[in-house]
Amino acid sequence: MHVKIPRVPLVATLVAVVAAAALLAAPAPGRAPAAAGIVRATATDQPETGRAPQTPTAPGQTTPPTVPPPGSTASGGQEPTAAAPAAPSGTVPGATPPGTRPPVVDHGPRTGNKVALTFDADMTDAMRYQLRSGAVRSYANLKIIELLERERVPATFFLTGKWVEQYPDVTRRLAGNPRFELANHTYGHLAFTPDCYGLPRIAEREMTADVARTFDVVAAYGGRQTRYFRFPGLCHDRKALTALAPLGVTVVDGDVVSGDPFAKSWRPVVRASLEGVRPGSVIVLHVTEANAPMTDEALPHILAGLAERGLEPAPLSEVLGVG
Ligand SMILES: [Zn+2]
Repeated sequence: MHVKIPRVPLVATLVAVVAAAALLAAPAPGRAPAAAGIVRATATDQPETGRAPQTPTAPGQTTPPTVPPPGSTASGGQEPTAAAPAAPSGTVPGATPPGTRPPVVDHGPRTGNKVALTFDADMTDAMRYQLRSGAVRSYANLKIIELLERERVPATFFLTGKWVEQYPDVTRRLAGNPRFELANHTYGHLAFTPDCYGLPRIAEREMTADVARTFDVVAAYGGRQTRYFRFPGLCHDRKALTALAPLGVTVVDGDVVSGDPFAKSWRPVVRASLEGVRPGSVIVLHVTEANAPMTDEALPHILAGLAERGLEPAPLSEVLGVG
């Protein structure tokens, strides 16, 4: 797979979300597709140890889901060592040796005709407040899911723990689809760098536990679990990546940013999704309905455009050459 040097994402064009109540979602940063294929050996430097072993039983979850699939849970508060056993490696897509700073991936090999549709499911406390106050109807865009199901389109969902807790039934539906892969988008969509679109920031000492907890929340639903992780707003720096070292993950940014958050029309979303798309591309979209209200309208056009270009959606693990 193609790996690039971790760096602070360029804050080029971005949708300024200065909504007072707080940012409802981090808009994806518009940036040029990354140059392909810089492989960076992930150094085995000082993994963050001693994370608080949380035992997340997903409080507030209505019907507790069943058995976690083997090998897919974040391994609690284990001390990572340089020679960590290849616990989930090789079995779970995206798994990397725990104790190494994770690779950051934008896209897969530029061969073949596969591309990945990835949908982020953000959920912040501010968003939950919007739901509870009735200001917002839904942050789960069922039209997207229905379309993907109907057309039998593979997709990968980057879920926040709070979104999963808000929508256990939808999560079960996603997990139950053999074409859908599940991935991690943090627990509460907090910023992992000092400046990330105004999102409230997570303390550095809490980063590891936050992401581990989210893996546990998602793992409980079974289905096609992965060790893929995406930072809110795609914001990461060396500290954030080091914090993930114990978890054995692959960080996935994406090379095609649809710009669907807060879109006013489906057309720009379609244009942005198709403009730079190539074999191996990872397209970043959102399934958050109220915060990405045009995505379901854009999706049929995106699918048609991909087909015209001879490109075929596939699960992320296949696009990255793992599956
Ligand atoms: Zn997000």
